[in-house]
Amino acid sequence: MAFCPRCGFELPSSGDCPVCGASARDDSASKNRPRRSERRPIRFPRILFPALIAIAAAAVVLLLLDPFKPKAPVVSTADVSPAGAPQASSGTPASPAPAASVAPADSTQLAAAPEPAASNQNTAAAGVTDSPWPKVLDTMPTTSKEAYIAWMQTHTDETAHFLELKWQRAQILVANKDITSPSLLRAFLYTPREYFVRTYNLKKAYDNTAIPIGYGQTISGPHMVANMTQSLDVQRGDRVLEIGTGSGYQSALLSELTDHVYTIEIVPQLYRETDAIYTKLSARYPEYNSILRKNADGYYGWAEHAPFQKIIVTAGIDHIPPDLLKQLAPDGVMVIPIGPPSGQTVLRIVKKPLAGGGFTFERSDIYHGTKVIFVPFTSTEGARHNVDTSGAGSGQ
Ligand code: SAH
Repeated sequence: MAFCPRCGFELPSSGDCPVCGASARDDSASKNRPRRSERRPIRFPRILFPALIAIAAAAVVLLLLDPFKPKAPVVSTADVSPAGAPQASSGTPASPAPAASVAPADSTQLAAAPEPAASNQNTAAAGVTDSPWPKVLDTMPTTSKEAYIAWMQTHTDETAHFLELKWQRAQILVANKDITSPSLLRAFLYTPREYFVRTYNLKKAYDNTAIPIGYGQTISGPHMVANMTQSLDVQRGDRVLEIGTGSGYQSALLSELTDHVYTIEIVPQLYRETDAIYTKLSARYPEYNSILRKNADGYYGWAEHAPFQKIIVTAGIDHIPPDLLKQLAPDGVMVIPIGPPSGQTVLRIVKKPLAGGGFTFERSDIYHGTKVIFVPFTSTEGARHNVDTSGAGSGQ
C-alpha cells in the first residue's frame, strides 16, 4: 500500500494523489515528505507499561480528590469591539488572511481556571466550568415548528424571524443527512447563529453559504458546520479542540454537545471580538463559559489540554499538522480540510491503536470526492506552514 509523499494520503493503484494532487514520482513532492518519525507507528518499550499503569492509578486518585475544582465560574469582561470592514462578496472563497501577529495579552488571565494556561501564548479565556446537565435544550420540542418557536421564545431572546429561518435551515440539514443525531439537531436549533454573524451580514445568518466576518475570514456555512460536526460524533464529556475560532459559532455549537471545548484563533483582532461575544452571551448561554480559548497558532495544538477525543480544523492546509495527530486521543477523531488552495478534501481521521503498540490512522473523505475551499491555515507570519520546517517549532 503506497502513501502520498506530500500529504500522507493513501494512494490509488495508479495516478496522482486524490487529496493534494502530488505525483508519487514527483521529486518536489518528496521533498515535503513527512519525517520518518511522523510516518512510523509510535512504539513504547515494554518496561514502560508498569510505569504507565502507576501513573494512571495516581491520576485516578487525583481525579477523585478533585483538588482543582473551581469555586465559581469566572469569565473575562471585555466589551464587543467593532467588526472588521464588510467583504465584497459572500459565499466565495476568502482571500488569504492578512499577516497576523500574536498580540500582547490584552485582557486579564482569569483566576481559578482548573487547568493551567498556555505558558507562552496569549490566553485570555474564561475559566473552564462545567455547565449543568441535562441542559435546558434537552427538553426542546423538535417535531413541530410552532412548539419549537414557542419553547425558544420562553428560553431564549431570539426573535421569531430568526427562529423561523433556523427551523427551515434545520429541516434541510436533516433532509440532506448533514444532521443525523438528535443531540446535534437540538444543538443547531438552540445555537443563535445570528449573534455570531457580524451585523452587516445579519440577513444572511441562516443562508447556506460562508459569510465574511472581517480580516479576510468567514463563518462556514451551516451545511458545512453541521456535516463536519456530525462527522466528529461528539459525545458528552469529550475534550474537543477547534483550530480556527473565527466567528465563534462552531465552538458555541460544540459547547451544547460537551463541556470541554478548546478553540484557537490566529488573528488577534478576531480573537478579541469573538472572546467578547462569548462573554456577552454567557449570561444567557452559561455553557460558553466552558469554551477555553486563546490567540495563537493552532498548528501546534494545545498540548496542555491534550489528549483530545475530537479535533476539528476549520482552515485549509496541505498536510496534517503533526502535533495535532500527536494530541489526538486513541480512538479519537479529527476532521480537517486537506489539499492545495484550489480545493481541499475534508478528511475524517480516526487514530486507531495497534495491538502491538503504536497507531494507525484510518482516513475517509466526508464529501466522497467533492473538493471544498476553506480559508487558508496560516502561520503567525501570515505564510503557510511547510511540513519540512514547521516541526522545528512544535511542542508549544
Ligand atoms: N470555525 C469558524 C470558521 C472560521 S474560518 C467559525 O465558526 O466561524 C477559519 C479560521 O481559522 C479563521 O478565523 C482564521 O483566522 C483561522 N486560522 C487560520 N490559520 C490558523 C492557525 N494557524 N491557527 C488558528 N487559527 C487559524
